Amino acid sequence: MPSVQIRRIENYDLPLLEEAVADFLSNVKSSRMKRSKRVLLKPNLLGAFPIDRAVTTHPLVLEALARYFLDRGKEVWIGDSPGGSANVDTVWQACGLTDLAKRYPVKLVNLSTSGFRELEYAGIPLKVSEVLWQCGIVINVAKYKTHSMVAFTGALKNLYGLVPGMVKTFYHGRYPNSKDFSRMLAALYELTKNRVSYSFIDGIMGMDGNGPSGGNVKNFGLFLGSASISALDYTAAKMLGFKLGDVPYLASALHQDGVLPSRIAVPASFRHYQIANADIKSVKLRTDVMKMIPPVARHAFRKVYSINLVVSARCNKCGICVNSCPVQAISPASAARFPKINQDKCIKCMCCHEMCPHRAIDIHKSLVARMVTR
Ligand code: SF4
Ligand code: SF4
Repeated sequence: MPSVQIRRIENYDLPLLEEAVADFLSNVKSSRMKRSKRVLLKPNLLGAFPIDRAVTTHPLVLEALARYFLDRGKEVWIGDSPGGSANVDTVWQACGLTDLAKRYPVKLVNLSTSGFRELEYAGIPLKVSEVLWQCGIVINVAKYKTHSMVAFTGALKNLYGLVPGMVKTFYHGRYPNSKDFSRMLAALYELTKNRVSYSFIDGIMGMDGNGPSGGNVKNFGLFLGSASISALDYTAAKMLGFKLGDVPYLASALHQDGVLPSRIAVPASFRHYQIANADIKSVKLRTDVMKMIPPVARHAFRKVYSINLVVSARCNKCGICVNSCPVQAISPASAARFPKINQDKCIKCMCCHEMCPHRAIDIHKSLVARMVTR
């Protein structure tokens, strides 16, 4: 049965992170880790968000990992495909990786433009970055956050960055609700998980509330790792207060791996650990409430229970949301007005909310929705 390593680390401190990385990776019994020469570090680089917004994997975590592998004579690549239409050079810069690549012999790889394989699982076709097969060792380095569409984002959801560029946006349109999107994630997981040697979750600074980019920055003070992605996500989600059914892709991932939650080994001091005062209510609500309504009444209920996305005056008209919308529901800004969201066309995928660098897209709830979330 899989084990999950967990450390309390309150601040981003390179020596502490290096020690934890070396300790966690000493448990990996994979010949690939010894044999292979090239390592891919796959962080969460959602967009060009400042490091202190806790949206993206902290550069010191990546530095600790780069040093670990460089010391062992490996070639280190750091790669991701940021969301929507984000400019990758701006993302490297904002996330501290341009600086990292100046100080260490690491290569920054844009997974949006490095080629892809066309794969299929359970009738779901998927494009996955070719780089996954060019690196013998793949280390998944996720961020600890809530997610307004699928409740929680950790190691498994981080694999979505292996889908190149705007194809991700297209899949949001093809799999518009959390159930279908989770089915697609399950297929992606099955197609990629065997390439991943180990996964970390950077939860030193994490996010609750309306994540994965517009929520509250929180000092969780946690650094986690496991060779099992499903066991790691289950443990992290549970510590944040989620139940198994709250995160729509989690049960199938555990099932796919044959992992029983009760058999996951965690350090004794974390067996019943809960993050204090974590705000997960707003991301739990959408799926929870609909489940409680009988199917015949759902159409009527949707009329009084609405959640709309609205562009606020914080907008600087950068246009990122317009290009990130999979169903073209956002009309571009003009000199006189901000971008406008067509609520009838909007499928509530939350991509615009996720990608807006200025937290300028507010979530407006109807009276009933506000009463339910109070
Ligand atoms: S809402 Fe955000 S992403 Fe959209 S144009 Fe304004 S600032 Fe840019
Ligand atoms: S407007 Fe925003 S939430 Fe609605 S479909 Fe477009 S990207 Fe998704």
